[in-house]
Amino acid sequence: WRSSDMAQRVAVPDGANKKTSRVRVAVRLRPYMDNQDEKDLGPCVRGLDSQNLEIINWRNATETVKYHFDAFHGEQTTQQEVFLSSVKPILPHILKGQNASVFAYGPTGAGKTHTMMGSSDQPGVIPRAVGEVFKLVKAKDEDEGWDYSIGMSYLEIYNEKVLDLLSPSSQDLPIREDKDKNILIPGLTLTTISSFSEFDKHFVPASLNRTTASTKLNQRSSRSHAVLLIKVVRTQRVLPHRQLTGKLYLIDLAGSEDNRRTGNQGIRLKESGAINLSLFTLSKVVDSLNSGTAVRVPYRDSKLTRLLQDSLGGSAHSVMITNIAPEYKYYFDTFNALNFASKSKLIVNKPFTCETVAVLPVKRAKEDHKAGVSGT
Ligand code: ADP
Ligand code: MG
Repeated sequence: WRSSDMAQRVAVPDGANKKTSRVRVAVRLRPYMDNQDEKDLGPCVRGLDSQNLEIINWRNATETVKYHFDAFHGEQTTQQEVFLSSVKPILPHILKGQNASVFAYGPTGAGKTHTMMGSSDQPGVIPRAVGEVFKLVKAKDEDEGWDYSIGMSYLEIYNEKVLDLLSPSSQDLPIREDKDKNILIPGLTLTTISSFSEFDKHFVPASLNRTTASTKLNQRSSRSHAVLLIKVVRTQRVLPHRQLTGKLYLIDLAGSEDNRRTGNQGIRLKESGAINLSLFTLSKVVDSLNSGTAVRVPYRDSKLTRLLQDSLGGSAHSVMITNIAPEYKYYFDTFNALNFASKSKLIVNKPFTCETVAVLPVKRAKEDHKAGVSGT
């Protein structure tokens, strides 16, 4: 059940140390919701500090499993705090012609869309990042001698098809690589935007289209990846009119719960491939980048990772925000998501119940989960 176990099976010769940047991994725990917990069991996971959390060990409820991440955002964390700590710091690189990507990973219902889009009173990463990019561009000194232009594309990867959300009638689009190894999608709409409100004007209806379609198409929105691209082109005013392009990908990934269908023994490519090849391959790519030893990062094995090849690893700046939910019904999805996100975990021999959760019926919870295991 550890996706990293898979990656480690890829043969890695000693001494291979191709230097690529790590993917920063943050975890965000959404608040506990009564209506998501029919049995009234209380939360099964909780934060410890700004980098650590613990979850009850289903094998032994007197133990917890403790995980360490680059950042942990607890249930009280605001949208602003998530943005400031995980996203804002990478944005200045876009204006220098570097690429970046921000992903929301995790099971359906754990808060990916809340984190990325948010709501009008609690805007998420996307509106904040786009606003900040405009602000950074405006703040650029006229005297520096560069002009900036900002463009957006918005696409969906569904069943390994690339679909243009700004031109909904379009068909599956091809992904290409140019001679400088930049990844591009010929035919994808790229709309120039000169203000945040112009961005909103294109983005909001396209997002709504996607949501409406989802109710008809068997929860499509939980099975597809929504990929927003913000492209900043910087052009020198004088000869030789040097041009630099920086790309920022903001991605609301498909629900990670699909992985569970492969059972508890491990993610098996043959079975999970058809379910969500892009999500599975993304986990291998992140593993391979973060273990720092793999010779071959399997970008070409799926549409999503192929698209991100120039914006994930290498000189790019990437952040994965793993969203998790505290209720027991998400237990195994949470466990899987944490195991994917974390390289290190520690079993701690200390009951979860003693501090914040006074009346948690541990025994009952344990039995329920045993039933749950044999059922999956
Ligand atoms: P996902 O996109 O991963 O399926 P959503 O973002 O739709 O999950 O979140 C599921 C529900 O939980 C929504 O009603 C959302 O508003 C709520 N929610 C998620 N994260 C938070 C949070 N950090 N604070 C408050 N409500 C949240
Ligand atoms: Mg969602």
